[in-house]
Amino acid sequence: MSPFPQTERTRLRRIPKRGFFDRETIYPIIDEAFVCNVATTVEGHLRMIPTAHWRHGDRFYIHGAKASKLLKALAAGTDACVNVTLVDGLVLARSAFHHSMNYRSVVLFGKAQVVTDEAAKMASLEHFVERVFPGRWSEVRPPNPKEMAATSVLYFDMAEVSAKVRTGPPVDDDEDHALDTWAGVLPLQLQAGALIDDPLLRMGIAAPNADEILQQRQANFGVD
Ligand SMILES: Cc1cc2nc3c(=O)[nH]c(=O)nc-3n(C[C@H](O)[C@H](O)[C@H](O)COP(=O)(O)OP(=O)(O)OC[C@H]3O[C@@H](n4cnc5c(N)ncnc54)[C@H](O)[C@@H]3O)c2cc1C
Repeated sequence: MSPFPQTERTRLRRIPKRGFFDRETIYPIIDEAFVCNVATTVEGHLRMIPTAHWRHGDRFYIHGAKASKLLKALAAGTDACVNVTLVDGLVLARSAFHHSMNYRSVVLFGKAQVVTDEAAKMASLEHFVERVFPGRWSEVRPPNPKEMAATSVLYFDMAEVSAKVRTGPPVDDDEDHALDTWAGVLPLQLQAGALIDDPLLRMGIAAPNADEILQQRQANFGVD
């Protein structure tokens, strides 16, 4: 598939070599991240709100309470900008100036659409649950009509989207290589802890194999 076109808004001016516009780079970043930040104008003021997201094909989904001011503004067709960021490491340079981070991030621009068809809305909520914790949907009670009515599902058709990726060691000034200061990268990653039973869990219910499920989740990055 051809990469996303670079637009006036998405063309990287600062260090453009770190920019990517292909789905093979962009989709795994979106799929790996649990949280995005959505910026839009709410009642005349700029607002940025963190929220969970998921992707299906070229669509970037969010959901929430129908009463959410952010979702109401988006549903009304307000322009939005969305960011997803994964921090992969601290880049420790010999100079304070050249400290940095290794990261993978995505920025997308657009207007959201509301999923109005009930069957499509239920299917997209299933995608959401399966993206976060594969296999979970078939084990849980699905949303009832009241819960569905209280929930909005919106999506952005991804068309104007960019990724920026930094990898590798610090980029120090030549003369600073003579310094005695340690330099390099401290890799960072999100790590799952051990499952904790709900105190109200009935006896005899086995916990899921979280390691296996998270491996499955990882295998799904970038896949539709
Ligand atoms: C974890 C993290 C830490 C960072 N720390 C710093 C910092 O401390 N100081 C700093 O100056 N910069 C930092 N950056 C880089 C920062 O995101 C910008 O890319 C950079 O500041 C250039 O900004 P600009 O407005 O000049 O971008 P421009 O290059 O003018 O942006 C033009 C377009 O390029 C795209 N774009 C730009 N940046 C990104 C991005 N990060 N991800 C996806 N698309 C992008 C967007 O579509 C944007 O509209 C960091 C990035 C990340 C992810």
